[in-house]
Amino acid sequence: MSGQQNLPLPDAQNEPVRFVPTRAAGLARLDRFVSRAGRHYTGLRNYDLGPDQRSNVSALSPWIRHRVITEEEVLRATLARHSPSAADKFIQEVFWRSYFKGWLEQHPSVWAGYLADLDDLLADLESDDWLAKGYRAATVGETGIEGFDDWSRELVETGYLHNHARMWFASIWIFTLRLPWQLGADFFLRHLLDGDPASNTLSWRWVAGLHTKGKAYQARVSNIAKYTRERFRPKHYLASEIRPLEEDAHHPRVPLPGADPLPEGSFLLLLTEDDCSIAQTLPRPPAAVLGLLASNGRSPLGVSAKVSEFAHGAVDDALSQSGGDIIGLTGEADWSGPILRAAAQAGVRSIVIGHPPIGPVATRFAQARGEIERAGLRIHAVRRDYDSAAWPHATRGFFALKKKIPALLRDIGLSG
Ligand SMILES: Cc1cc2nc3c(=O)[nH]c(=O)nc-3n(C[C@H](O)[C@H](O)[C@H](O)COP(=O)(O)OP(=O)(O)OC[C@H]3O[C@@H](n4cnc5c(N)ncnc54)[C@H](O)[C@@H]3O)c2cc1C
Repeated sequence: MSGQQNLPLPDAQNEPVRFVPTRAAGLARLDRFVSRAGRHYTGLRNYDLGPDQRSNVSALSPWIRHRVITEEEVLRATLARHSPSAADKFIQEVFWRSYFKGWLEQHPSVWAGYLADLDDLLADLESDDWLAKGYRAATVGETGIEGFDDWSRELVETGYLHNHARMWFASIWIFTLRLPWQLGADFFLRHLLDGDPASNTLSWRWVAGLHTKGKAYQARVSNIAKYTRERFRPKHYLASEIRPLEEDAHHPRVPLPGADPLPEGSFLLLLTEDDCSIAQTLPRPPAAVLGLLASNGRSPLGVSAKVSEFAHGAVDDALSQSGGDIIGLTGEADWSGPILRAAAQAGVRSIVIGHPPIGPVATRFAQARGEIERAGLRIHAVRRDYDSAAWPHATRGFFALKKKIPALLRDIGLSG
């Protein structure tokens, strides 16, 4: 694309997005965006025009991350308006999320290794002055690097960054500022409304050259200037000879966990921030429903008030649409007590949860599981057909899954 002034941005003016954590708000944003998911998105998606101009991207990620609205719904709405080829780029981006979720599920040591490294690095911040100074400047937006400082502040203020800004930011963090990628990933997880263990950790590793081994992402001044339409043209030196990071750790692939069938009788449904609309996939409503929050577990430092309010609001909204008696919503770290009490109150012996993918929800649930089972309750972790179809193809690079997209869309009944 040439000539910034000729750029066809018909309705790019003034389209900020308000991230309201309800299904109605997510569906309204989808409705507003979907007519642009074809050629418009294909041609313009790489432009970061600033927080007030989001017409060229969907900005649906906070709702999709919590499955307030699902990938499948987004794809269905897209294909109702566009042919698969016209919306090819947008469809692929949605499948990037499915790819990362499935890949991390099969490489859990990446998440465990990241958490262990993060603990060490947070301790280093107490003793290493150079690291502490650099980290502070990067996270309050005082490095002196135009663009980078603005994105740092934008992230904290809005809870969202454009994909291209995330890539530039991560690249500058790693290769120009020479800060550990794990601290950057944690900064994102604390502030992104869409903060997701799979998409975030694996994207940071992708930029660093650890996901696609030997291939790192370089942020260039000309690229930043072009795709921000000259809002930013950093004068600061940006690392030019970048060397992809390497690691000693080997991350073996493990088999995908199996999915459980729904119990015969009545059950308590656990609603978590990983899948707020799981109730809609069940053939019958739960007897009762309990909301469980783990957003504070996304980082050892906790998450921002904005992040926690979005997750809380999303689960709260989902509870009212689940079709069962609402027992309550808890953010306690130990889930066994609230689950046992809720099952007793509802008078049921079966617990249903949407299979929690790798991350804090899965960790908290795994910690509570033993006690729940010792009390004689049966757990059924149900998995969406969408995940069961996509995840097995997320074993190597994205390309292998990309080739399967037409078949996947057919499998889930979205194209003929
Ligand atoms: C360093 C870094 C960290 C990231 N961290 C996260 C994260 O924590 N959570 C998160 O959801 N995304 C993350 N992404 C991916 C991507 O930047 C966001 O999903 C996207 O910017 C969200 O904006 P949007 O909804 O307007 O996307 P659109 O371009 O409108 O895409 C539609 C949807 O597809 C999915 N998607 C799009 N691009 C990607 C991608 N590259 N990877 C995975 N899914 C994608 C999202 O669900 C998104 O809502 C990260 C990317 C980078 C480079």
